[in-house]
Amino acid sequence: MYKVKVVHKPVIVVHGGAGAWQTERMDLGLAGVKDAARAGFEILKSGQAALDAVEMAVTRMEDDEVFNAGRGSALTINKCIEMEASIMDGKTLDAGAVGLLKDVRNPVCLARIVMEKTDHVFLVAEGAEKLVDLFGLERRDPFTELRIQQWGALKENLMQEKLNYMPKLHRLVASHSQLFEPSTVGAVALDKNGNVAAATSTGGFSLKLPGRIGDSPLIGCGTYADNEAGACSATGIGEIAVKLVLAKSTCDSIHVGRSAQEATEKSIELVNRRMHGGSMGLIAVDMLGRIGAAHNSPNLCWAYMTMKTHQPKASLKAKTVRDAG
Ligand code: ASP
Repeated sequence: MYKVKVVHKPVIVVHGGAGAWQTERMDLGLAGVKDAARAGFEILKSGQAALDAVEMAVTRMEDDEVFNAGRGSALTINKCIEMEASIMDGKTLDAGAVGLLKDVRNPVCLARIVMEKTDHVFLVAEGAEKLVDLFGLERRDPFTELRIQQWGALKENLMQEKLNYMPKLHRLVASHSQLFEPSTVGAVALDKNGNVAAATSTGGFSLKLPGRIGDSPLIGCGTYADNEAGACSATGIGEIAVKLVLAKSTCDSIHVGRSAQEATEKSIELVNRRMHGGSMGLIAVDMLGRIGAAHNSPNLCWAYMTMKTHQPKASLKAKTVRDAG
């Protein structure tokens, strides 16, 4: 088996979602991912754990309403918000996840509480909400004007049968990319001690059915971290990432010797081959501190920071892997 050498140069990569970013929101998205990468990297530079860095980065993006996570989350078909998040420590394989949250300010912090303070991995709804009060986490109104407007427009289309929404979601996204801004957030990091971590947080998809759980809180699907490989966070159509167990597949791909970049590209090729090119984006880091980012969606809003870059580098594109067919 190929064993990679552990190095200790801290690295963070964050994403603010795949999909099609509207022109007027691009600068806000780029500023948001830069801020998150910088905040996470400060933690790594000070010698703290990758786990702390990804939690910090995701928290920053949950607080930034340009993203579909925390405040600014997308609305369900019945005009509610059901947020979800997960976090994973590559050193121990400990993981925590939460779903169906109404108003906790930072779902990723609750996911970490599930990981560290309970014997479970995944809590949803009332059970998870109870921990919010028990551990004194803040609550915050997650609804924003923009998401309410988007919900109205999408619902109108749905009622007029212009939107064949759920059954063939990937085709819909492909042909109406302007309707969707799946700006889920995520982060992966490698710390000075050679440990990796990953975290992901989302409001899910606009008009999702109540109770729908996507990939973001599912360990292995939207989030995975393992010190024997690397860490990965996914964004895009959650159902696809669930079917392909995409974050774990990407880490497995690193484990057999691919770089983080090769592994993310390979996973997007898999999406193209098996899932008809449904819209996805991936970020990853391997144990050598090499970063990876690839997507088949029109955009991937992402940023990274290393000792060499001094400042976060952000972009709305990474390696775009298109469907060969
Ligand atoms: N993957 C998320 C979900 O399906 C959406 C996104 O990445 O924006 O809930």
